[in-house]
Amino acid sequence: MIVAQRKQIPEIMDIVKQHKSLLVLGCGTCVTVCLAGGEREVSIISSALRMASRLAGSEIKIEELTIERQCDNVFIEQAAEAIERNEAVLSLGCGAGVQAMAERFGNKPVYAGLDTAFIGILEERGIWTEKCGACGSCVLGDYGGICPITRCAKRLLNGPCGGSREDRCEVRPDSQCAWQLIYNRLKDIGQLDKLKKITSAKNWNTALDGGYRVIVREDHRV
Ligand code: SF4
Ligand code: SF4
Repeated sequence: MIVAQRKQIPEIMDIVKQHKSLLVLGCGTCVTVCLAGGEREVSIISSALRMASRLAGSEIKIEELTIERQCDNVFIEQAAEAIERNEAVLSLGCGAGVQAMAERFGNKPVYAGLDTAFIGILEERGIWTEKCGACGSCVLGDYGGICPITRCAKRLLNGPCGGSREDRCEVRPDSQCAWQLIYNRLKDIGQLDKLKKITSAKNWNTALDGGYRVIVREDHRV
């Protein structure tokens, strides 16, 4: 899932303070699961903003709404009436959701209430970790299902770097060396032979550096 976290209330206040009415719009998918932008957080942020604006003497009128997905036109329309009623929108969607809302409602300011962080998983209660950098050309199959791009601090496709200490990464001593994990995993599944292969430089054309990416599925186009 996409993992995000809430911006601090003073930062949000600074962003929205010029408005008299504001729709705080939650998203019911990834950011709900990572406890950043779902219905519950809409309620918490709205209450905090009401209090902060009262203290600042501005009394912003705040409406609350959560839709299933802000990145999907099918659901975006469900927010249309509420958006019409308000001067601006504070989106608690991920960066894609915020931009989808802004594109659809071109005459309304749409602000990001979250900082979108990464693609990851819930590791344990209250801890999310990054697992995928969306490189666009997945090599997990060569590395026992452990991503060297995201999880090795040096992004080594031919590792390890030799700096690890007792299975800890030399760059990030708080985490296990990804290459130790790759070795263990390949050993467990009987694929250690894969480590004998020298992997050539990755083609990064599929990654973000050349600008935003587009996937076209001709079989789904109308
Ligand atoms: S290889 Fe690329 S697509 Fe696969 S998990 Fe790593 S970053 Fe994500
Ligand atoms: S110690 Fe391991 S995870 Fe850290 S940079 Fe070196 S190979 Fe990568």
